Amino acid sequence: MTGLSKSRILAHRQCPKRLWLQINRPELQEESSGATARMAAGTQAGEVARGFYPGGVLIDSEHLSQALDDTLSVMALGDKAIFEATFQANNVLVRADLLLPDVNGYRLAEVKSSTSVKDYHCEDAAVQAWVCKNAGVEVTRTEIAHINNGFIYRGDGNYQGLFTHADISELIAELEADVPDWIAAAQDTLAGSEPVIEAGEQCDDPFPCPFWSYCCPEKSVEDGYPPEILPRSKVLAAQLRAEGFDDLRKVPEERLNPAQQRIRRVSITQKAEVNPQAGEVLKDLAYPRYYLDFETITFVVPIWVSTRPYQQIPFQWSCHIESAEGTIRHHDFLADGKNDPRRAFAESLVEILGNIGAIVVYNQTFEKSRVRELAADFPDLAPALDAIIDRIFDLLPLAREHYYHPDMFGSWSIKAVLPTIAPELAYDDLEVAHGMMAMDSFAEIMRPDTTDERREHLRVELLKYCERDTWAMVRIAQFFQQGGQHAS
Ligand code: SF4
Repeated sequence: MTGLSKSRILAHRQCPKRLWLQINRPELQEESSGATARMAAGTQAGEVARGFYPGGVLIDSEHLSQALDDTLSVMALGDKAIFEATFQANNVLVRADLLLPDVNGYRLAEVKSSTSVKDYHCEDAAVQAWVCKNAGVEVTRTEIAHINNGFIYRGDGNYQGLFTHADISELIAELEADVPDWIAAAQDTLAGSEPVIEAGEQCDDPFPCPFWSYCCPEKSVEDGYPPEILPRSKVLAAQLRAEGFDDLRKVPEERLNPAQQRIRRVSITQKAEVNPQAGEVLKDLAYPRYYLDFETITFVVPIWVSTRPYQQIPFQWSCHIESAEGTIRHHDFLADGKNDPRRAFAESLVEILGNIGAIVVYNQTFEKSRVRELAADFPDLAPALDAIIDRIFDLLPLAREHYYHPDMFGSWSIKAVLPTIAPELAYDDLEVAHGMMAMDSFAEIMRPDTTDERREHLRVELLKYCERDTWAMVRIAQFFQQGGQHAS
């Protein structure tokens, strides 16, 4: 029998093939930066949660038998909170985030960096509670300690109120009864050969599976167009795949709505479709035109006064300014990472954007939300910031409505559109190539142990990346205004 852990059982709950691959073909895993960030957020939240129980004992031995013994030793003391308390039952190992002394037993609390209780937390806690109880622990109640998104950090390291403890004991009672079946099913899977399971909705529920590239190697024109490229159509894609459609081009047209039909049509003809109306819309935009993009960073545990968990804190902008005569200038701002960047960001933005001209962004919800938040944070700048919001023009819906190229594979993200219009500007020459990497790079700049040399290197890469985003918008706008001819 293979030893199981809570995470292995949950991997099996997501997809039996995932667990089988995890044990037998771990080299095929590709962890995303999202997974790494989630893990880092979880670690950070866990550390802060422990701080509320002074005198608590962390079980940190890497050796299983030592960790099990240490846990029992601390429990024998009777009144200590235990962090990472380790138990084993029925060949399943768990480590409990918080085991808190209670009248006649212990409260079992799992710390989660999300802002509410999710269904998958309940399965997670059910396994945890079942193993603890079967290892002889009197569990008086089971809780999820999740982030309270109404918390505002007031400084001085005071995080009282950051967590909400939700009692889920009743919610998981029935699930606990199912745990022995989950364990048996996982053992059965591991005793057999690789399960034959098609990719489907389970692949990113509750999280993207690290074996996606193995199960669904990236599609190119030669390989075909899987139904999963249809945007916001997960259910339909799963249905089509279940019916045996592995290529969108084979799906009957009448199964698709007009937007989906265009993707199918272009995938068949291999000819981009550009509606000249896009250019007409752009011709009406006032000069000077400001092509603008922001980068932000978030913290599950806020570090700057008057910020919330997961608040998107802007630290960088790039702006290309196009005059009516056709000249283009570039400006940018990148915070030094030493303290809260919001005020300097807002002031520099107000200064560069002036009072007239269209402000062109790609996906306005993001930029408008950040500007609104800055206006709320700095009332003296609010009139100028509100005026910026009124001038914003969004290039994304225009592209979505009027343009599609077979190489976009169902995506209108700027990274999907740009290479089809200006292939020489694809992001693959950049060290920082997407928003998550930008956030990680800025986090590294902020770290006190980062060398000056490394910090300077990261700054250069961040500036290059954000500049590419706004230059991309310039090129996309030129492309539409030239009726879909490749801009120079
Ligand atoms: S990618 Fe999908 S099908 Fe493949 S192992 Fe993961 S969840 Fe299962």
